[in-house]
Amino acid sequence: MTQPKRDPSTGRFIKPTPSERVAAHVERVNALHPEHDSDCAVNSEPAYPAGECDCGAVARSLPKGFPQAAISKPKPAPSINKRAAAGIIWFIILTGLALIGLIVYLVTH
Ligand SMILES: [Zn+2]
Repeated sequence: MTQPKRDPSTGRFIKPTPSERVAAHVERVNALHPEHDSDCAVNSEPAYPAGECDCGAVARSLPKGFPQAAISKPKPAPSINKRAAAGIIWFIILTGLALIGLIVYLVTH
C-alpha cells in the first residue's frame, strides 16, 4: 500500500494528484474487491503478464463524478509515419488550393 507523502520541511501531508488517488484506489479495489470479470486483464497471469483492469470494475467503483479522464490512459502520440502521411495530405490539399487560386486569377485577369 502506498503511504501518503509528507512535505519534508513541514511534515504535513501533501495532497495527492488525481492520478495518484486513482492509483491508490485501484490498489484498494484490487486488494479488497476483486470483482473483476474473469476475462479482465488483471487475471491474465500466469499465461500472460497481468494488465490494468479492462473490465470496468475499477471505473464502476469510483465515486460518481470522479473525472473519468483520470483513469483513462493518455493516447500515445501518433507514429511518425501517420504524422508524415498527414503532412503529405495537407501539402497536397494546400498545393491544390493554391493552383486553383492561381488558375482562377490567370483566367480572370
Ligand atoms: Zn477488471
